[in-house]
Amino acid sequence: MEGAEGPWPSAGKATGPIPGTVRPEADVFPRFDEPLFEAVRRAHPTKIALQVPAGLVRNAHDLAAELRRAVDRPVVVVSRACFGACDFPAPDEVPGADALVVLGHSPIPNVPRWAPTYFVEMRYPPGEAEPLAELLVQQDLPKRLGLVASVQHLDLVEPLVRAAADRGFELRTGAGDRRLAYAAQALGCNYTGAESIADSVAGFLFLGTGRFHPIGLALAVDRRVWSLDPLQGTLEPPLDRASIVADRFRTIARAMDAKRFGVLVSSFAGQHRGGLASALVEKARRRGREAEILVFARLDPADLVGRDLDAYVNTACPRIAIDDAALYPRPMLTPPEFLSAIGELPLEPYRFDTYH
Ligand code: SF4
Repeated sequence: MEGAEGPWPSAGKATGPIPGTVRPEADVFPRFDEPLFEAVRRAHPTKIALQVPAGLVRNAHDLAAELRRAVDRPVVVVSRACFGACDFPAPDEVPGADALVVLGHSPIPNVPRWAPTYFVEMRYPPGEAEPLAELLVQQDLPKRLGLVASVQHLDLVEPLVRAAADRGFELRTGAGDRRLAYAAQALGCNYTGAESIADSVAGFLFLGTGRFHPIGLALAVDRRVWSLDPLQGTLEPPLDRASIVADRFRTIARAMDAKRFGVLVSSFAGQHRGGLASALVEKARRRGREAEILVFARLDPADLVGRDLDAYVNTACPRIAIDDAALYPRPMLTPPEFLSAIGELPLEPYRFDTYH
């Protein structure tokens, strides 16, 4: 199967931007600078709420001061932790604000917004692609790979595809669903761009830092995932997917005899799957189990302590169950894992909880 947007650039053939890497919306900015300020000015906001991810908290107040000076409007900083474009502040969190500036994330196109919202992706300059492509040669990677990048490194995708093509590699991106702003983008709950080309590649290359996305990508596509870190200039071998899946199977097994489940539902605009939660409750009851819906905005493990519930299924961010399982007092499942635990789905193959 060929990728949806082929043909792909090869040595000496410049074909323009790589599909899945072009900025899709007028309210998305690569950096925190004048084009953003000008767009915010044009909206004539009364008050602006600024949301910054954990990695930028140290700079939050300098950035707020800069925005205030540039736009000449009051700015409030949203202090609760945020993890994605899924959990931008709700109106009652930022009283009086009528514009939002969200740093460090690209938009999730199918999440509705209640006010003009400006996403500042904080992209790194593309840097040197040639030494990174050389690592593919040195470590003898398969010649045809899928490519997925964290949003901060999307500007490096095109130079990397070309540098890899010069060395005989074909790096592909696919076509994702409407939760992805860019098909080549890594979003911790949705790798549909990668899934669309998984049958046509020998493995995947993740361009970015850390293990969060390689874990999610490997679970979603069931392929080897190499991690290419453009900041360190390193190429890491694939992580051990089988042991991660085995951990998940153990958690599912612990929940199989649960009599009463808590079904967790977040009120965040981009994490709210109330319909799914109701459907899961129905399925649990049809299988002779009890199930209660618990609602929250941001889930705090302390809120689950002391409850007379045997296990949980989480319909909010899929990564809570996978990455934070150790923080919770009872087994925490994703919806597909829950369906396996109550006998609605076979245990294998392991199914990633893709949030569409
Ligand atoms: S739901 Fe989770 S993985 Fe998806 S964007 Fe939000 S924080 Fe990231």
